[in-house]
Amino acid sequence: MPELPEVQSTLNHLQAQIVGQTIQTFTARTTKLRWPIDPRLVHTLKGLKIQSISRRAKYLLLNTLLGNVVIHLGMSGSLQIVSKKSPAGKHDHIDLELNDHLLRFCDPRKFGAWLWIKNSDLKNHKLFAALGPEPLEDSFDGNCLWQMTRKKNTPIKQFLMQAKNVVGVGNIYASESLFAAKIHPLLPAHKLTHLQCQSLVHEIKTVLLAAISAGGSTLKNFITPDGKPGYFAQNHRVYGRAKQPCLNCHTTIEKINVAQRSTFFCPQCQINN
Ligand SMILES: [Zn+2]
Repeated sequence: MPELPEVQSTLNHLQAQIVGQTIQTFTARTTKLRWPIDPRLVHTLKGLKIQSISRRAKYLLLNTLLGNVVIHLGMSGSLQIVSKKSPAGKHDHIDLELNDHLLRFCDPRKFGAWLWIKNSDLKNHKLFAALGPEPLEDSFDGNCLWQMTRKKNTPIKQFLMQAKNVVGVGNIYASESLFAAKIHPLLPAHKLTHLQCQSLVHEIKTVLLAAISAGGSTLKNFITPDGKPGYFAQNHRVYGRAKQPCLNCHTTIEKINVAQRSTFFCPQCQINN
């Protein structure tokens, strides 16, 4: 499933090829993605110039002077720039025709989304109003995490994965950053010290940036020949390593469930108090 780094890498990859281009046509070959595609998009989008592209959580926003084409990759979606003559495959559900090429959306499992949100409605839209801070912004720092966690009994791993607290820290990145910061995933959030909050925020940013930079170099292979998005082969330090020795201390890595999600940790390195 595309996580924040894949979405950011997609943005970085697309930027130069879509900003400044004008939408010629919008073609949807299905009406059913995660939410129905509004048939009015054909008329709404025609002639709009894409001023910029941005990201909020795992949503990509093609910004125009009137509003935003909001795209979510869902479970299996991917975006590609292709020539206008390129025939659409079975799972190529949407084409946005620009001046020079098509922006094509492929989504085998159809959990992705394409929406139109006017600029005036964006801030208070239900998709965005309740979202926590972006993990890579400077305002998300150790002090911010410390203040947010003071009255929270939630295990810190679960806390990190709730978008109302901070967006885009998916399951893998939560396990990896807690391992790097030497914090037990079940530690109640309010028990983190100020120093632990600083360390954890630093590690969250580090793992996300490493994944984005890996994406930047592998994105040209983003679609594999069988049509599946080729999400990055990651070098996980703890995730998926149950029963293997810890890379720091050789203690056996344990796997537990936290809020129904597989969670990996070293019982020696990651302290629970
Ligand atoms: Zn260890």
